[in-house]
Amino acid sequence: MTQIPSLNDARQMDAADPLATCRAQFHIPDGTIYLDGNSLGVLPHAVKGRVADAVSKEWGDGLIRSWNDAGWVDLPYRIGARIARLIGAEENCVVATDSTSVNLFKTLSAALTLRPGRHRIITEERNFPTDNYIAEGVIRQCGGQHELVHVSTPEAIAAALDSDTAVLMLTHVNYRDGRVHDMAALTQAAHDAGALVIWDLAHSAGALEVDLCACNVDFAVGCSYKYLNGGPGAPAFLYAAPRHQGGFQQPLTGWFAHAAPFAFSPRYEPATDISQYLCGTAPVLSMIALDAALDVWDSVDMAALRQKSQELTGFFIDLVEARCAGHDLTLITPRDAEARGSQVSFKHPTGGYAIISALIAEGVIGDFRAPDVLRFGFTPLYTRFEDVWTAVDRMASILADRRWDTPEFHARKKVT
Ligand SMILES: *Cc1c(COP(=O)(O)O)cnc(C)c1O
Repeated sequence: MTQIPSLNDARQMDAADPLATCRAQFHIPDGTIYLDGNSLGVLPHAVKGRVADAVSKEWGDGLIRSWNDAGWVDLPYRIGARIARLIGAEENCVVATDSTSVNLFKTLSAALTLRPGRHRIITEERNFPTDNYIAEGVIRQCGGQHELVHVSTPEAIAAALDSDTAVLMLTHVNYRDGRVHDMAALTQAAHDAGALVIWDLAHSAGALEVDLCACNVDFAVGCSYKYLNGGPGAPAFLYAAPRHQGGFQQPLTGWFAHAAPFAFSPRYEPATDISQYLCGTAPVLSMIALDAALDVWDSVDMAALRQKSQELTGFFIDLVEARCAGHDLTLITPRDAEARGSQVSFKHPTGGYAIISALIAEGVIGDFRAPDVLRFGFTPLYTRFEDVWTAVDRMASILADRRWDTPEFHARKKVT
């Protein structure tokens, strides 16, 4: 048997890591090993000063003038352009706006109007719940003639596409097990059937390379509070291909989606560019936090990021399997590094929530996804191999003497 890597081995991997210097740009609390950046990214130092200035100077002193003078009105586009680079989008095709859920509502509604006479929306049963809930809402809103078809395996997706399919709506990296879909192949298959695609990039943006343009994607949405570190509830993003920016309407026809918002004309007239996907006034302070958080990304090589992500997740899998064997943990994330995103998940029959709670109490933060999944996110910009090693060391110790199995750790909090 090969030797189990030591803490010293992990430190040597950190010494050879080309992204190691990025960590200094983040506020990492002392004594915390944070393996939940896939749920809420950590605070980039740059955000603190920028938000403080925005509050005291732009809002405090500049007041209403700051919409023009501080460029508030351009934030959705400026931030959109910065995110576009990370997801392979064309120019002027991404805006930062609303939440992922709301952006799904807008894009799915738009997509259905572009495929009149077709009735099926294909998605995965195991998709993140909000995506499927929103689809149910859109169907009700459209008069109930559409059908949401849940498929349960990747193989079934392509098979389900037919001449009555309007939209294929999928999440690129699954939130629960971290499996990655083949975006190029599935988009092609949907187009071959005459359908449109919407990709949810919540667990992709800032986690791996995405090329929306090369894959010929129609629409995409995603979160910026996860791997992009935009802060709690940060504005989400929305991508619409150039061919889907005029000639029809999305239903949330707010004034920022008007062709000329400050004409104050009595009737709605749709913008014909990406601004049609905005709705109302942007949350400026959150936008500014996100803009500052994106500074970190300007110099990041996404191929190097992906490589480190695969190494971190692989290192974690190997260590857990070597050091936590015999404790009922079952890997549900693909072993093939190409087939997984930047997270690793294990199932445990009874103790998932309590084990995560015990880990958090000892400074290792992951999360639990009902009913039985322990989920760990690996953010290459600030997670070290040393952190992975220490996290597994604590987990092995917690499992060995069942420190997790107490009423305190089993008691569920509201947010898991
Ligand atoms: C996190 C996540 C969301 C969150 O949507 P919000 O509107 O920001 O609450 C949506 N979809 C997926 C796939 C996610 O992982």
